[in-house]
Amino acid sequence: MLLDAGAVSRCRRRVHLEHDPTMVDAVRAAPDPAGEQRKADAEAHRRAVADDLAPHQPGWTEVAPGKAAERERDTLAALAAGAPFIWGGLLPADHTAGRRGGAELLVRTEHGYLPVLVVRHKVTDPGEGACTSTLSDLNPDKADTDSQRKLRPQPRDQLRLAHLRRLLEASGYAEPDRALGGAIGLDADVVVWHDLAATNWPGGRTALQEYDVRFADRLAVARAAMSGDEPLARPSRILECRRCPWWPICEAELLSTRDVSLVVRGEDATELRSVGVTTVDKLAAVDPEAADAPMLGGVSTTDAVALARAWRNDLTVVRKVAEVVVPRADVEVDVDMESFGEGGAYLWGCLLSGVDIGVRRGYRAFATWEPVPTPDEGRSFAEFWTWLTWVRSTAEARGLSFRAYCYNEMAENRWMFSSVERFGELPGVPSEDEVSAFVRSDEWFDLYRSVNDQFLCAQGKGLKVIAPVAGFAWRDPEAGGENSMRWYRHAVGLDGGPAVRAQRDRLLQYNEDDVRATFTLREWMASSAVHAIPYFGDL
Ligand code: SF4
Repeated sequence: MLLDAGAVSRCRRRVHLEHDPTMVDAVRAAPDPAGEQRKADAEAHRRAVADDLAPHQPGWTEVAPGKAAERERDTLAALAAGAPFIWGGLLPADHTAGRRGGAELLVRTEHGYLPVLVVRHKVTDPGEGACTSTLSDLNPDKADTDSQRKLRPQPRDQLRLAHLRRLLEASGYAEPDRALGGAIGLDADVVVWHDLAATNWPGGRTALQEYDVRFADRLAVARAAMSGDEPLARPSRILECRRCPWWPICEAELLSTRDVSLVVRGEDATELRSVGVTTVDKLAAVDPEAADAPMLGGVSTTDAVALARAWRNDLTVVRKVAEVVVPRADVEVDVDMESFGEGGAYLWGCLLSGVDIGVRRGYRAFATWEPVPTPDEGRSFAEFWTWLTWVRSTAEARGLSFRAYCYNEMAENRWMFSSVERFGELPGVPSEDEVSAFVRSDEWFDLYRSVNDQFLCAQGKGLKVIAPVAGFAWRDPEAGGENSMRWYRHAVGLDGGPAVRAQRDRLLQYNEDDVRATFTLREWMASSAVHAIPYFGDL
Protein backbone atom coordinates (compact mmCIF):
# COMPACT_ATOMS: atom_id res chain seq x y z
CA MET A 1 0.00 0.00 0.00
CA LEU A 2 1.27 3.44 -0.97
CA LEU A 3 -0.06 6.80 0.23
CA ASP A 4 0.41 10.05 -1.61
CA ALA A 5 1.14 13.40 0.02
CA GLY A 6 -2.55 14.39 0.12
CA ALA A 7 -3.28 11.67 2.68
CA VAL A 8 -1.63 13.61 5.51
CA SER A 9 -3.97 16.59 5.07
CA ARG A 10 -7.06 14.54 4.24
CA CYS A 11 -9.85 13.48 6.58
CA ARG A 12 -8.80 10.29 8.41
CA ARG A 13 -12.14 8.63 7.67
CA ARG A 14 -11.65 9.33 4.00
CA VAL A 15 -8.28 7.58 4.11
CA HIS A 16 -10.08 4.64 5.74
CA LEU A 17 -12.84 4.53 3.11
CA GLU A 18 -10.37 4.80 0.24
CA HIS A 19 -8.62 1.66 1.50
CA ASP A 20 -11.59 -0.37 2.69
CA PRO A 21 -12.06 -3.17 0.12
CA THR A 22 -15.78 -3.41 0.96
CA MET A 23 -16.24 0.17 -0.23
CA VAL A 24 -15.01 -0.38 -3.77
CA ASP A 25 -18.51 -0.36 -5.25
CA ALA A 26 -20.07 2.11 -2.78
CA VAL A 27 -22.14 4.84 -4.43
CA ARG A 28 -20.39 8.19 -3.93
CA ALA A 29 -21.38 11.77 -4.62
CA ALA A 30 -20.90 12.93 -8.20
CA PRO A 31 -17.65 14.82 -8.79
CA ASP A 32 -18.02 18.44 -7.82
CA PRO A 33 -17.81 20.47 -11.10
CA ALA A 34 -16.14 23.34 -9.26
CA GLY A 35 -13.51 20.96 -7.94
CA GLU A 36 -12.91 19.61 -11.43
CA GLN A 37 -12.54 23.16 -12.69
CA ARG A 38 -10.06 23.98 -9.94
CA LYS A 39 -8.00 20.95 -10.94
CA ALA A 40 -8.02 22.03 -14.59
CA ASP A 41 -7.03 25.58 -13.60
CA ALA A 42 -4.19 24.27 -11.44
CA GLU A 43 -2.94 22.12 -14.31
CA ALA A 44 -3.07 25.08 -16.71
CA HIS A 45 -1.19 27.22 -14.17
CA ARG A 46 1.53 24.57 -13.78
CA ARG A 47 1.92 24.33 -17.54
CA ALA A 48 2.14 28.10 -17.93
CA VAL A 49 4.82 28.32 -15.23
CA ALA A 50 6.82 25.52 -16.84
CA ASP A 51 6.63 27.23 -20.25
CA ASP A 52 7.89 30.46 -18.68
CA LEU A 53 10.70 28.80 -16.77
CA ALA A 54 12.04 26.31 -19.28
CA PRO A 55 13.74 28.73 -21.75
CA HIS A 56 15.76 30.32 -18.92
CA GLN A 57 16.95 27.19 -17.11
CA PRO A 58 19.82 25.41 -18.88
CA GLY A 59 19.43 21.65 -18.65
CA TRP A 60 15.64 21.76 -18.21
CA THR A 61 14.36 18.19 -18.42
CA GLU A 62 10.71 17.21 -18.63
CA VAL A 63 9.39 13.80 -17.65
CA ALA A 64 6.68 12.89 -20.14
CA PRO A 65 3.20 12.00 -18.85
CA GLY A 66 2.52 8.28 -18.93
CA LYS A 67 2.25 5.20 -16.77
CA ALA A 68 3.63 5.47 -13.25
CA ALA A 69 6.37 2.91 -13.88
CA GLU A 70 7.59 4.75 -16.97
CA ARG A 71 7.56 8.12 -15.20
CA GLU A 72 9.47 6.67 -12.23
CA ARG A 73 12.02 5.16 -14.61
CA ASP A 74 12.50 8.43 -16.52
CA THR A 75 12.73 10.47 -13.31
CA LEU A 76 15.33 8.12 -11.89
CA ALA A 77 17.32 8.36 -15.11
CA ALA A 78 17.23 12.17 -14.99
CA LEU A 79 18.29 12.17 -11.31
CA ALA A 80 21.13 9.75 -12.07
CA ALA A 81 22.25 11.94 -14.99
CA GLY A 82 22.33 14.97 -12.69
CA ALA A 83 19.78 16.99 -14.69
CA PRO A 84 19.75 20.52 -13.17
CA PHE A 85 15.95 20.91 -13.39
CA ILE A 86 13.50 18.02 -13.62
CA TRP A 87 9.89 18.95 -14.40
CA GLY A 88 6.94 16.63 -13.76
CA GLY A 89 8.99 13.88 -12.12
CA LEU A 90 7.52 10.93 -10.24
CA LEU A 91 9.93 9.85 -7.53
CA PRO A 92 10.57 6.15 -6.98
CA ALA A 93 7.89 4.82 -4.63
CA ASP A 94 9.13 3.88 -1.18
CA HIS A 95 7.46 0.52 -0.60
CA THR A 96 9.00 0.11 2.84
CA ALA A 97 7.59 3.38 4.14
CA GLY A 98 4.37 3.16 2.09
CA ARG A 99 4.97 6.43 0.25
CA ARG A 100 4.69 7.63 -3.32
CA GLY A 101 4.53 10.99 -5.04
CA GLY A 102 5.79 13.43 -7.61
CA ALA A 103 7.09 16.99 -7.60
CA GLU A 104 6.34 19.65 -10.14
CA LEU A 105 10.02 20.56 -10.10
CA LEU A 106 13.23 19.11 -8.69
CA VAL A 107 16.15 21.53 -8.50
CA ARG A 108 19.71 20.24 -8.31
CA THR A 109 22.11 21.98 -5.95
CA GLU A 110 25.74 21.21 -5.23
CA HIS A 111 24.79 18.47 -2.79
CA GLY A 112 21.54 16.97 -3.99
CA TYR A 113 17.99 17.81 -5.05
CA LEU A 114 15.31 20.04 -3.54
CA PRO A 115 11.58 19.81 -4.35
CA VAL A 116 9.64 22.82 -5.64
CA LEU A 117 5.84 22.96 -5.83
CA VAL A 118 3.87 25.04 -8.31
CA VAL A 119 0.56 25.92 -6.73
CA ARG A 120 -2.41 28.08 -7.59
CA HIS A 121 -2.70 29.96 -4.33
CA LYS A 122 -0.77 32.76 -2.69
CA VAL A 123 2.51 31.76 -1.07
CA THR A 124 3.52 35.21 0.21
CA ASP A 125 1.89 38.37 1.54
CA PRO A 126 3.06 41.98 1.35
CA GLY A 127 5.68 42.50 4.05
CA GLU A 128 9.22 41.32 4.49
CA GLY A 129 11.26 38.40 5.64
CA ALA A 130 10.42 35.55 3.24
CA CYS A 131 13.38 33.67 1.82
CA THR A 132 12.95 33.92 -1.95
CA SER A 133 14.77 33.27 -5.22
CA THR A 134 14.03 34.93 -8.51
CA LEU A 135 12.54 32.78 -11.27
CA SER A 136 15.49 33.58 -13.49
CA ASP A 137 17.81 31.86 -11.02
CA LEU A 138 16.14 29.13 -9.00
CA ASN A 139 19.30 28.28 -7.08
CA PRO A 140 18.41 28.47 -3.36
CA ASP A 141 22.04 29.33 -2.57
CA LYS A 142 21.33 32.69 -4.17
CA ALA A 143 18.06 33.14 -2.27
CA ASP A 144 17.75 36.26 -0.18
CA THR A 145 15.58 37.73 2.54
CA ASP A 146 12.80 39.46 0.67
CA SER A 147 12.10 43.09 1.54
CA GLN A 148 8.71 43.03 -0.25
CA ARG A 149 7.22 39.73 0.84
CA LYS A 150 6.55 37.79 3.99
CA LEU A 151 5.92 34.07 4.04
CA ARG A 152 2.39 32.65 4.04
CA PRO A 153 2.95 29.46 6.06
CA GLN A 154 0.63 27.28 3.91
CA PRO A 155 0.84 24.15 6.12
CA ARG A 156 -0.39 21.86 3.32
CA ASP A 157 2.44 22.97 1.07
CA GLN A 158 4.95 22.32 3.82
CA LEU A 159 3.55 18.85 4.49
CA ARG A 160 3.69 18.04 0.80
CA LEU A 161 7.28 19.23 0.64
CA ALA A 162 8.11 17.09 3.67
CA HIS A 163 6.59 14.08 1.87
CA LEU A 164 8.80 14.77 -1.16
CA ARG A 165 11.81 15.27 1.08
CA ARG A 166 11.28 11.81 2.59
CA LEU A 167 10.96 10.30 -0.91
CA LEU A 168 14.16 12.03 -2.03
CA GLU A 169 15.93 10.73 1.08
CA ALA A 170 14.75 7.19 0.36
CA SER A 171 16.06 7.36 -3.19
CA GLY A 172 19.39 8.85 -2.07
CA TYR A 173 19.03 12.18 -3.86
CA ALA A 174 18.07 14.53 -1.01
CA GLU A 175 20.41 17.32 0.03
CA PRO A 176 21.91 15.84 3.21
CA ASP A 177 22.47 18.94 5.32
CA ARG A 178 19.40 21.09 4.86
CA ALA A 179 15.72 20.35 4.39
CA LEU A 180 14.50 23.10 2.10
CA GLY A 181 11.46 23.00 -0.12
CA GLY A 182 10.26 25.67 -2.51
CA ALA A 183 6.89 26.90 -3.74
CA ILE A 184 5.95 29.02 -6.74
CA GLY A 185 2.50 30.47 -6.15
CA LEU A 186 -0.35 32.05 -8.03
CA ASP A 187 1.60 35.20 -8.84
CA ALA A 188 4.50 33.11 -10.20
CA ASP A 189 6.94 35.88 -9.36
CA VAL A 190 9.43 34.16 -7.03
CA VAL A 191 10.22 30.82 -5.43
CA VAL A 192 9.60 31.02 -1.69
CA TRP A 193 11.71 28.61 0.35
CA HIS A 194 10.42 26.79 3.42
CA ASP A 195 12.86 25.41 5.96
CA LEU A 196 11.22 22.10 6.81
CA ALA A 197 13.53 21.63 9.81
CA ALA A 198 12.60 24.95 11.43
CA THR A 199 10.74 24.60 14.73
CA ASN A 200 7.89 26.85 13.63
CA TRP A 201 4.97 24.45 14.04
CA PRO A 202 2.76 24.32 17.15
CA GLY A 203 4.54 22.77 20.11
CA GLY A 204 7.94 23.71 18.70
CA ARG A 205 7.79 20.92 16.13
CA THR A 206 9.24 21.07 12.63
CA ALA A 207 7.28 20.49 9.45
CA LEU A 208 9.12 17.19 9.03
CA GLN A 209 8.21 16.05 12.54
CA GLU A 210 4.58 17.02 12.04
CA TYR A 211 4.54 15.21 8.74
CA ASP A 212 6.09 12.05 10.16
CA VAL A 213 3.50 11.82 12.92
CA ARG A 214 0.61 12.41 10.55
CA PHE A 215 1.91 10.05 7.92
CA ALA A 216 2.36 7.24 10.45
CA ASP A 217 -1.21 7.81 11.64
CA ARG A 218 -2.71 7.78 8.13
CA LEU A 219 -0.73 4.69 7.24
CA ALA A 220 -2.11 2.89 10.30
CA VAL A 221 -5.66 4.00 9.36
CA ALA A 222 -5.24 2.72 5.81
CA ARG A 223 -3.71 -0.57 6.89
CA ALA A 224 -6.49 -1.23 9.41
CA ALA A 225 -9.08 -0.52 6.69
CA MET A 226 -7.39 -2.76 4.18
CA SER A 227 -7.05 -5.68 6.52
CA GLY A 228 -10.58 -5.36 7.95
CA ASP A 229 -9.35 -4.59 11.48
CA GLU A 230 -11.25 -2.38 13.88
CA PRO A 231 -11.44 1.01 12.04
CA LEU A 232 -9.10 3.65 13.42
CA ALA A 233 -11.20 6.48 11.99
CA ARG A 234 -14.94 7.07 12.35
CA PRO A 235 -17.02 9.63 10.42
CA SER A 236 -17.48 13.02 11.99
CA ARG A 237 -18.79 16.02 10.10
CA ILE A 238 -16.10 18.57 9.23
CA LEU A 239 -15.79 21.38 6.71
CA GLU A 240 -14.28 18.99 4.16
CA CYS A 241 -17.49 16.91 4.10
CA ARG A 242 -19.19 19.53 1.89
CA ARG A 243 -17.08 18.52 -1.08
CA CYS A 244 -16.25 14.95 -0.19
CA PRO A 245 -17.38 12.16 -2.51
CA TRP A 246 -17.94 9.92 0.52
CA TRP A 247 -20.57 12.18 2.12
CA PRO A 248 -23.56 9.94 1.19
CA ILE A 249 -21.90 7.05 3.04
CA CYS A 250 -20.84 9.12 6.05
CA GLU A 251 -24.12 11.03 6.27
CA ALA A 252 -26.12 7.78 6.41
CA GLU A 253 -23.90 6.52 9.21
CA LEU A 254 -24.08 9.79 11.14
CA LEU A 255 -27.87 9.92 10.81
CA SER A 256 -28.26 6.33 11.94
CA THR A 257 -26.38 7.10 15.15
CA ARG A 258 -27.79 10.66 15.46
CA ASP A 259 -24.17 11.72 15.80
CA VAL A 260 -23.49 14.98 17.58
CA SER A 261 -21.41 16.27 14.63
CA LEU A 262 -24.63 16.64 12.63
CA VAL A 263 -25.18 19.91 14.50
CA VAL A 264 -21.73 20.84 15.85
CA ARG A 265 -18.89 19.95 13.57
CA GLY A 266 -15.12 19.70 13.77
CA GLU A 267 -13.21 20.16 17.01
CA ASP A 268 -16.38 20.98 18.94
CA ALA A 269 -17.84 17.57 18.10
CA THR A 270 -14.60 15.91 19.22
CA GLU A 271 -14.72 17.87 22.48
CA LEU A 272 -18.34 16.87 23.10
CA ARG A 273 -17.64 13.21 22.46
CA SER A 274 -14.73 13.32 24.89
CA VAL A 275 -17.17 14.21 27.68
CA GLY A 276 -19.73 11.59 26.63
CA VAL A 277 -22.03 13.85 24.59
CA THR A 278 -22.00 11.65 21.53
CA THR A 279 -25.46 12.23 20.07
CA VAL A 280 -27.70 15.16 19.15
CA ASP A 281 -30.16 13.94 21.79
CA LYS A 282 -27.54 14.04 24.54
CA LEU A 283 -26.52 17.53 23.46
CA ALA A 284 -30.14 18.68 23.48
CA ALA A 285 -30.40 17.50 27.09
CA VAL A 286 -27.37 19.52 28.28
CA ASP A 287 -28.07 22.45 30.60
CA PRO A 288 -25.84 25.18 29.11
CA GLU A 289 -25.94 27.10 32.40
CA ALA A 290 -24.66 24.16 34.48
CA ALA A 291 -21.20 24.52 35.98
CA ASP A 292 -20.04 21.31 34.30
CA ALA A 293 -21.45 22.18 30.85
CA PRO A 294 -18.85 21.46 28.13
CA MET A 295 -16.88 24.44 26.84
CA LEU A 296 -16.71 24.73 23.04
CA GLY A 297 -14.51 26.79 20.76
CA GLY A 298 -16.42 27.32 17.51
CA VAL A 299 -19.88 27.96 18.95
CA SER A 300 -21.23 28.82 22.41
CA THR A 301 -22.61 25.95 24.46
CA THR A 302 -25.98 27.72 24.58
CA ASP A 303 -26.09 27.90 20.78
CA ALA A 304 -24.94 24.29 20.43
CA VAL A 305 -27.74 23.08 22.70
CA ALA A 306 -30.26 25.24 20.84
CA LEU A 307 -29.09 23.83 17.51
CA ALA A 308 -29.51 20.30 18.84
CA ARG A 309 -33.06 21.08 20.03
CA ALA A 310 -33.88 22.71 16.70
CA TRP A 311 -32.53 19.70 14.80
CA ARG A 312 -34.68 17.35 16.86
CA ASN A 313 -37.70 19.47 15.95
CA ASP A 314 -36.83 19.51 12.25
CA LEU A 315 -36.28 23.26 12.38
CA THR A 316 -33.72 24.86 10.09
CA VAL A 317 -33.89 28.29 11.75
CA VAL A 318 -34.57 29.38 15.33
CA ARG A 319 -34.69 32.89 16.77
CA LYS A 320 -32.07 33.58 19.44
CA VAL A 321 -33.78 36.80 20.40
CA ALA A 322 -37.36 37.61 21.28
CA GLU A 323 -37.34 40.68 19.00
CA VAL A 324 -35.38 40.80 15.75
CA VAL A 325 -33.93 44.22 14.91
CA VAL A 326 -32.56 45.51 11.60
CA PRO A 327 -31.63 49.19 11.31
CA ARG A 328 -33.33 50.88 8.38
CA ALA A 329 -32.90 54.17 6.54
CA ASP A 330 -34.88 56.51 4.29
CA VAL A 331 -32.69 55.62 1.31
CA GLU A 332 -31.33 52.08 1.10
CA VAL A 333 -28.99 50.23 -1.23
CA ASP A 334 -28.35 46.48 -1.25
CA VAL A 335 -24.88 45.69 -2.62
CA ASP A 336 -23.43 42.44 -3.90
CA MET A 337 -20.06 41.96 -5.56
CA GLU A 338 -19.04 39.08 -7.84
CA SER A 339 -15.39 38.10 -8.10
CA PHE A 340 -13.51 35.43 -10.01
CA GLY A 341 -11.04 33.66 -7.73
CA GLU A 342 -8.06 35.87 -7.05
CA GLY A 343 -8.41 37.49 -10.48
CA GLY A 344 -10.61 40.43 -9.57
CA ALA A 345 -14.09 41.75 -8.80
CA TYR A 346 -15.88 41.96 -12.10
CA LEU A 347 -19.36 43.04 -11.01
CA TRP A 348 -20.81 45.36 -8.37
CA GLY A 349 -24.60 45.04 -8.24
CA CYS A 350 -26.79 47.59 -6.43
CA LEU A 351 -30.50 47.71 -5.61
CA LEU A 352 -31.72 51.19 -4.71
CA SER A 353 -34.93 51.42 -2.66
CA GLY A 354 -36.68 53.72 -0.22
CA VAL A 355 -37.62 57.38 -0.58
CA ASP A 356 -37.49 58.78 -4.12
CA ILE A 357 -34.49 61.11 -4.41
CA GLY A 358 -34.72 61.59 -8.14
CA VAL A 359 -32.40 58.67 -8.89
CA ARG A 360 -33.91 55.69 -10.69
CA ARG A 361 -34.74 53.07 -8.11
CA GLY A 362 -34.21 49.38 -8.76
CA TYR A 363 -31.24 47.28 -9.81
CA ARG A 364 -28.14 48.42 -11.68
CA ALA A 365 -24.82 46.72 -12.33
CA PHE A 366 -21.30 48.09 -12.68
CA ALA A 367 -19.33 45.48 -14.54
CA THR A 368 -16.34 44.74 -16.69
CA TRP A 369 -16.62 41.94 -19.22
CA GLU A 370 -12.94 41.92 -20.04
CA PRO A 371 -11.52 38.82 -18.36
CA VAL A 372 -10.04 39.68 -14.95
CA PRO A 373 -7.39 40.67 -14.11
CA THR A 374 -7.89 43.72 -16.30
CA PRO A 375 -7.42 47.48 -15.79
CA ASP A 376 -11.04 47.82 -16.90
CA GLU A 377 -12.00 46.46 -13.48
CA GLY A 378 -10.76 49.80 -12.10
CA ARG A 379 -13.14 51.65 -14.43
CA SER A 380 -16.16 49.63 -13.31
CA PHE A 381 -15.22 49.96 -9.61
CA ALA A 382 -14.83 53.73 -10.02
CA GLU A 383 -18.28 53.95 -11.60
CA PHE A 384 -19.78 51.90 -8.76
CA TRP A 385 -18.14 54.08 -6.10
CA THR A 386 -19.09 57.32 -7.86
CA TRP A 387 -22.73 56.24 -8.09
CA LEU A 388 -22.84 55.09 -4.45
CA THR A 389 -21.25 58.34 -3.28
CA TRP A 390 -23.70 60.33 -5.35
CA VAL A 391 -26.69 58.53 -3.83
CA ARG A 392 -25.28 59.05 -0.31
CA SER A 393 -24.64 62.74 -0.84
CA THR A 394 -28.02 63.29 -2.55
CA ALA A 395 -29.80 61.65 0.39
CA GLU A 396 -27.79 63.73 2.85
CA ALA A 397 -28.51 66.95 0.95
CA ARG A 398 -32.23 66.22 1.32
CA GLY A 399 -31.92 65.50 5.02
CA LEU A 400 -32.59 61.80 4.52
CA SER A 401 -30.81 58.92 6.21
CA PHE A 402 -28.85 56.42 4.08
CA ARG A 403 -27.71 52.85 4.59
CA ALA A 404 -26.12 50.23 2.33
CA TYR A 405 -26.47 46.51 3.07
CA CYS A 406 -24.44 43.50 2.05
CA TYR A 407 -24.38 39.87 3.12
CA ASN A 408 -20.99 39.13 4.68
CA GLU A 409 -18.94 42.25 4.26
CA MET A 410 -15.60 40.41 4.20
CA ALA A 411 -15.77 39.82 0.46
CA GLU A 412 -17.01 43.29 -0.49
CA ASN A 413 -14.55 45.00 1.86
CA ARG A 414 -11.67 42.92 0.61
CA TRP A 415 -12.29 43.90 -3.01
CA MET A 416 -13.01 47.54 -2.22
CA PHE A 417 -9.61 47.87 -0.54
CA SER A 418 -7.93 45.78 -3.20
CA SER A 419 -9.43 48.01 -5.93
CA VAL A 420 -8.11 51.09 -4.15
CA GLU A 421 -4.67 49.49 -3.94
CA ARG A 422 -4.58 48.41 -7.58
CA PHE A 423 -6.45 51.23 -9.32
CA GLY A 424 -5.88 54.20 -7.00
CA GLU A 425 -4.55 56.31 -9.86
CA LEU A 426 -7.73 56.08 -11.94
CA PRO A 427 -10.32 58.88 -11.81
CA GLY A 428 -13.23 58.05 -9.51
CA VAL A 429 -11.37 55.48 -7.44
CA PRO A 430 -11.51 56.60 -3.79
CA SER A 431 -8.64 56.81 -1.35
CA GLU A 432 -8.10 54.11 1.26
CA ASP A 433 -9.21 56.58 3.93
CA GLU A 434 -12.53 57.13 2.15
CA VAL A 435 -13.23 53.42 1.92
CA SER A 436 -12.16 52.90 5.55
CA ALA A 437 -14.46 55.67 6.72
CA PHE A 438 -17.37 54.15 4.79
CA VAL A 439 -16.97 50.53 5.89
CA ARG A 440 -16.57 51.61 9.53
CA SER A 441 -19.61 53.86 9.42
CA ASP A 442 -23.18 53.00 10.34
CA GLU A 443 -24.04 53.47 6.67
CA TRP A 444 -22.49 50.07 5.80
CA PHE A 445 -24.41 47.21 7.35
CA ASP A 446 -23.52 43.53 7.27
CA LEU A 447 -26.77 41.58 7.24
CA TYR A 448 -24.90 38.30 7.71
CA ARG A 449 -23.64 39.45 11.09
CA SER A 450 -27.15 40.46 12.01
CA VAL A 451 -28.48 37.00 11.05
CA ASN A 452 -25.64 35.41 12.98
CA ASP A 453 -26.46 37.43 16.08
CA GLN A 454 -30.20 36.83 15.99
CA PHE A 455 -30.78 33.38 14.52
CA LEU A 456 -29.50 29.86 14.87
CA CYS A 457 -29.39 28.09 11.54
CA ALA A 458 -29.06 24.32 11.57
CA GLN A 459 -28.27 24.18 7.83
CA GLY A 460 -25.80 27.09 7.76
CA LYS A 461 -26.21 30.84 7.47
CA GLY A 462 -25.49 31.32 3.78
CA LEU A 463 -27.82 33.67 1.90
CA LYS A 464 -29.01 30.73 -0.23
CA VAL A 465 -30.15 28.97 2.96
CA ILE A 466 -31.63 31.83 4.93
CA ALA A 467 -33.31 33.96 2.24
CA PRO A 468 -35.73 31.14 1.25
CA VAL A 469 -36.92 31.10 4.88
CA ALA A 470 -37.94 34.72 4.25
CA GLY A 471 -39.82 33.58 1.14
CA PHE A 472 -37.23 34.46 -1.50
CA ALA A 473 -36.48 32.21 -4.48
CA TRP A 474 -33.75 32.63 -7.09
CA ARG A 475 -35.00 32.57 -10.67
CA ASP A 476 -32.11 30.37 -11.77
CA PRO A 477 -32.47 26.88 -10.29
CA GLU A 478 -28.67 26.46 -10.47
CA ALA A 479 -27.87 29.75 -8.70
CA GLY A 480 -24.76 29.42 -6.56
CA GLY A 481 -21.27 30.79 -6.13
CA GLU A 482 -19.50 27.79 -7.63
CA ASN A 483 -21.74 27.70 -10.70
CA SER A 484 -21.29 31.43 -11.21
CA MET A 485 -17.56 30.75 -11.70
CA ARG A 486 -18.38 28.43 -14.56
CA TRP A 487 -20.81 30.91 -16.11
CA TYR A 488 -18.18 33.62 -15.83
CA ARG A 489 -15.64 31.58 -17.78
CA HIS A 490 -18.12 31.30 -20.65
CA ALA A 491 -19.32 34.90 -20.30
CA VAL A 492 -15.85 36.28 -21.00
CA GLY A 493 -14.51 33.42 -23.14
CA LEU A 494 -11.87 32.47 -20.61
CA ASP A 495 -11.21 29.06 -22.12
CA GLY A 496 -10.39 30.41 -25.54
CA GLY A 497 -13.91 30.22 -26.99
CA PRO A 498 -16.08 33.22 -27.87
CA ALA A 499 -17.64 35.23 -25.05
CA VAL A 500 -21.20 34.01 -24.50
CA ARG A 501 -23.61 36.92 -24.00
CA ALA A 502 -26.33 34.67 -22.58
CA GLN A 503 -24.01 33.77 -19.71
CA ARG A 504 -23.43 37.47 -18.97
CA ASP A 505 -27.18 37.90 -18.76
CA ARG A 506 -27.35 34.89 -16.49
CA LEU A 507 -24.71 36.38 -14.17
CA LEU A 508 -26.50 39.73 -14.11
CA GLN A 509 -29.79 38.01 -13.24
CA TYR A 510 -28.02 35.98 -10.56
CA ASN A 511 -26.44 39.09 -9.06
CA GLU A 512 -29.75 40.95 -9.19
CA ASP A 513 -31.41 38.09 -7.35
CA ASP A 514 -28.68 38.16 -4.71
CA VAL A 515 -29.34 41.82 -3.90
CA ARG A 516 -33.09 41.24 -4.04
CA ALA A 517 -32.55 38.34 -1.61
CA THR A 518 -30.84 40.60 0.95
CA PHE A 519 -33.60 43.16 0.45
CA THR A 520 -36.31 40.53 1.01
CA LEU A 521 -34.47 39.09 3.99
CA ARG A 522 -34.13 42.38 5.85
CA GLU A 523 -37.72 43.39 5.05
CA TRP A 524 -38.83 40.08 6.54
CA MET A 525 -36.57 40.47 9.58
CA ALA A 526 -38.09 43.87 10.23
CA SER A 527 -41.67 42.57 9.89
CA SER A 528 -43.96 40.67 12.24
CA ALA A 529 -43.69 37.62 9.93
CA VAL A 530 -40.38 36.81 11.58
CA HIS A 531 -42.29 35.77 14.71
CA ALA A 532 -43.37 32.64 12.88
CA ILE A 533 -39.83 31.41 13.49
CA PRO A 534 -39.73 29.67 16.90
CA TYR A 535 -37.86 31.40 19.68
CA PHE A 536 -35.10 29.34 21.27
CA GLY A 537 -36.40 30.02 24.75
CA ASP A 538 -39.70 28.32 23.82
CA LEU A 539 -38.14 25.07 22.59
S1 SF4 B 1 -17.71 12.81 4.22
FE1 SF4 B 1 -16.60 13.92 5.82
S2 SF4 B 1 -16.21 12.42 7.39
FE2 SF4 B 1 -16.74 11.30 5.54
S3 SF4 B 1 -14.83 10.85 4.57
FE3 SF4 B 1 -15.54 12.72 3.69
S4 SF4 B 1 -14.65 14.36 4.88
FE4 SF4 B 1 -14.43 12.47 6.06
